[in-house]
Amino acid sequence: MSVLVPGNSNLIFRRFELKAGESAGGHSHNYDHSMLVVSGGPITVRGRRTVDEVPVGDVYETTIHAGDDPLLILADWHHEIKASGPVKYFCIFAARDDKGNVVAKWNGNMDAAG
Ligand SMILES: [Zn+2]
Repeated sequence: MSVLVPGNSNLIFRRFELKAGESAGGHSHNYDHSMLVVSGGPITVRGRRTVDEVPVGDVYETTIHAGDDPLLILADWHHEIKASGPVKYFCIFAARDDKGNVVAKWNGNMDAAG
């Protein structure tokens, strides 16, 4: 995993690589973010709504291939990722201050990106 922040933007790109059959995630955030597969895969994302950080309700599942549009992961959705093949993907976050408000420029706060 590595972190890229383009220029003076407020976008945080976290790059991940998984091997075939590997899983990642199993967490939720209190803010939206996007997921973009750049090569390999596909990945299957399983998500459930959370209440007080506890997953509840129906499980939604979707598969993302390299080159597909970014997948929006809503706030308070528990999500986990499984790779069908070796894959490289980014999770993309808006930079936030320590109160969770989006800021114009990344200030080094990784709480907004994980
Ligand atoms: Zn996540």
